[in-house]
Amino acid sequence: MRFQPLKVTDIRPTTRDAVVVTLDAPFDWVQGQYLTFRRSFDGTEIRRSYSICAAPGEPCQVAIKRVEGGAFSTWANESLAPGDTLDVMPPMGRFHTPLAPDAATRYLLITAGSGITPILSIARTVLAAEPKAQVTVLYANRAVNSIMFQTELDDLKSQHLTRLQIVHVLKQDAQQIPLFTGRLDADKLDALFAQWIDPDTIDRAFICGPEGLMETARARLEAHGVNPAEIHVELFGSTQPGRLPQSARSDAPQPPTRATIRLDGVPHEITMERDQSLLDAARANALDAPFACKAGVCSTCMCRVVEGEVEMIQNHALDDDEVSRGYVLSCQSYPLTDSVVVDYDTGH
Ligand SMILES: Cc1cc2nc3c(=O)[nH]c(=O)nc-3n(C[C@H](O)[C@H](O)[C@H](O)COP(=O)(O)OP(=O)(O)OC[C@H]3O[C@@H](n4cnc5c(N)ncnc54)[C@H](O)[C@@H]3O)c2cc1C
Repeated sequence: MRFQPLKVTDIRPTTRDAVVVTLDAPFDWVQGQYLTFRRSFDGTEIRRSYSICAAPGEPCQVAIKRVEGGAFSTWANESLAPGDTLDVMPPMGRFHTPLAPDAATRYLLITAGSGITPILSIARTVLAAEPKAQVTVLYANRAVNSIMFQTELDDLKSQHLTRLQIVHVLKQDAQQIPLFTGRLDADKLDALFAQWIDPDTIDRAFICGPEGLMETARARLEAHGVNPAEIHVELFGSTQPGRLPQSARSDAPQPPTRATIRLDGVPHEITMERDQSLLDAARANALDAPFACKAGVCSTCMCRVVEGEVEMIQNHALDDDEVSRGYVLSCQSYPLTDSVVVDYDTGH
C-alpha cells in the first residue's frame, strides 16, 4: 500500500494533449486497475490516479491527458521525461470481473476521451484470455484527432477481426454513417441500441468516463434490459467535490469518538472529532493510511467498519454489495457512535 519510486522508461504522445508513460514496474495488475502518483508542487503534495492501459504481463503503461489548468496532467505532458522517477502506489481498483476462459461473454465497453485507458486494458485482456468473448467498444470523442490510442485500437481490431467491434462516436467530425456523429447522450445511445448494437446481446458492460456519460449510459443500459449487476463503472472525476452536509449530524455538541484503526496488522487507538473524516483522523495521528482523490471517487482509501457506525457522505466508487459488507471510503466517512473500529487491511 506504500509509495515506491518507479523509473519512467518511455514517454510519447498519443494525441496532441495526452502522453503515454511507460514505467519499470515490479508489480503485476488486474485489467482495469489504476496507479496513484504522488508529487509536490511548490511544497504542496498532490496525489493523482491514472488507469493502466496495458494488459497484465505487458509493459506497465498509463496515459495522461492534459486537463486545462490541471497541475499533475500539465506537468506530465510538459516536463516528465524518460529516466525520471515517479512515486507510485501499487495498483488498486475493482473495475474488473474474473476472467473465464471457457465463457462466451459479450462485452460492451463504453467510454469517452481519456476514459479509454482502463477500457483498452480490459479489451486487450479479455480478448486474449477469453477466446470466445465478443467485445464492442463504444468510444466518444470530440474529433478524429482527439482519439487516444487510435493505432493500438486499429491493431487490436486487426488481431481480432471477428470478435472486436469498435464504434467511434465523434461530436464534431462527420462520418460515413450519420449515426456515429454527435454527442453520445441518451438519444444517441437509444439510437445505437435500436440500429447498431442489440442490447439483448450484452452480457456485461463496463463504462468509464465523466459522471454525466457514466450515469446516462448506465440508465440507458438498464432501460434496455441489461442486468444492473453486470454494469460496471469507473469515474475519473467528480462534479461534486468537497463535503455535503451530514444528514445524521445533530446540532448538539457530540463527544469525541474513540477509534481503533487497524493498519498493517497493528491496531491504533485514537480519539477523533465527529466532524473529522476517518482518513483525516488517521493521518492527523501520523498513521500512513492510503488515499488519493479525497473526493469519494477512487477507492484507494477504502476500509471496513468492524464495530460502530459511520456516515459516508459521498460514494462514487463502492458498489451496494461492498457497502452492505461494511466497506466505506474513509475520506468521506464520519463517526456516528462513541466508538468505532475500522480495518484498512481488509480493504484491498
Ligand atoms: C480512478 C481514476 C482513474 C483515472 N485515470 C485517468 C487516466 O487514465 N487518464 C487521465 O488522463 N486521467 C485519469 N484520471 C483523472 C486524473 O486522476 C486527474 O484527475 C486529472 O489528470 C486532472 O489532474 P490535474 O492534477 O492535472 O488537475 P487538477 O490540478 O486537479 O485540476 C483539475 C481542474 O480543476 C481546476 N482547478 C484546480 N485547482 C483549482 C482551484 N483552486 N479553483 C478552481 N479550479 C481549480 C483546474 O483548472 C482543472 O480544470 C483518473 C481519475 C481517477 C479517480
